[in-house]
Amino acid sequence: MLDVREVTKKYGKNLACDHVSFTLEPGSLTVLLGPNGAGKSTIIKSIIGFLKYSGSISINGLPNKSTQARKIMGYIPEMPSLYPNLTVVEHMEFIARAYKMTNYKERINMLLDRFELSDKKKKFGDELSKGMQQKLNLCIGLLPDPDIILMDEPLLGLDPHAIKELKNYIEEMRQAGKTMLISTHIIDSVDMLWDRTIIMQKGQVRANVTKHEIDGAGKSLEDLFFEVTEGIEKEAVSSSSLSEEESSSSGKDEAKGEEA
Ligand code: ADP
Repeated sequence: MLDVREVTKKYGKNLACDHVSFTLEPGSLTVLLGPNGAGKSTIIKSIIGFLKYSGSISINGLPNKSTQARKIMGYIPEMPSLYPNLTVVEHMEFIARAYKMTNYKERINMLLDRFELSDKKKKFGDELSKGMQQKLNLCIGLLPDPDIILMDEPLLGLDPHAIKELKNYIEEMRQAGKTMLISTHIIDSVDMLWDRTIIMQKGQVRANVTKHEIDGAGKSLEDLFFEVTEGIEKEAVSSSSLSEEESSSSGKDEAKGEEA
């Protein structure tokens, strides 16, 4: 279980995450929704251990920044950061060695094949188009096959084949019992099977509900999104569906510094 408790993060005076709390149940797929600037990337980067913040984050009881916790988490960043002087296959091998993977060649070939990069194996990072960089970014994140995977806007910049392939892959990971957190600001892109949605706005968690609860209330994800972010028919959302964070005050525990 991944447990995020009262995480507050400020960039200077800008409160990016304000006492954010939620848990990810093992084997569940959680969609993290919110408009641009809601704090989605910041909470994901905090979980993966890239930022300093106040509050606590644990994975199966271990601090998120511990070596053991890092080993079970994978991260697909929104912006790929590739090495211009490494080829596609060298990027993959570099990650495989960093994670001390054995017999990784078959898995590398499988991922490059699924995301249509097999014929680009010898291309250097700076020779790839934006979309290809995005696909390599995905393959790198998926390669170690972690138990918990955090994806920040993973569908952005992908071509239709890669979007379809990624959605299929997400479903396969769901069936394999992986725990996933997928952020997006595009509600229409959420047409895969998911278990829970967390809606953030202005650094706060505005709603934290299961698919079952939304379906039971006869609502669509879009209905809920606009109810909680624009106050439309807000009273229609049951108070139990709204998180405690909605009424919490602004953060006081300013985290010092930026990157961890
Ligand atoms: P989202 O992923 O939901 O679009 P972010 O977490 O990227 O939101 O941003 C939350 C807030 O923090 C925004 O106001 C954004 O401008 C600010 N922010 C994000 N990253 C930085 C940074 N490195 N330095 C300063 N402010 C930042």
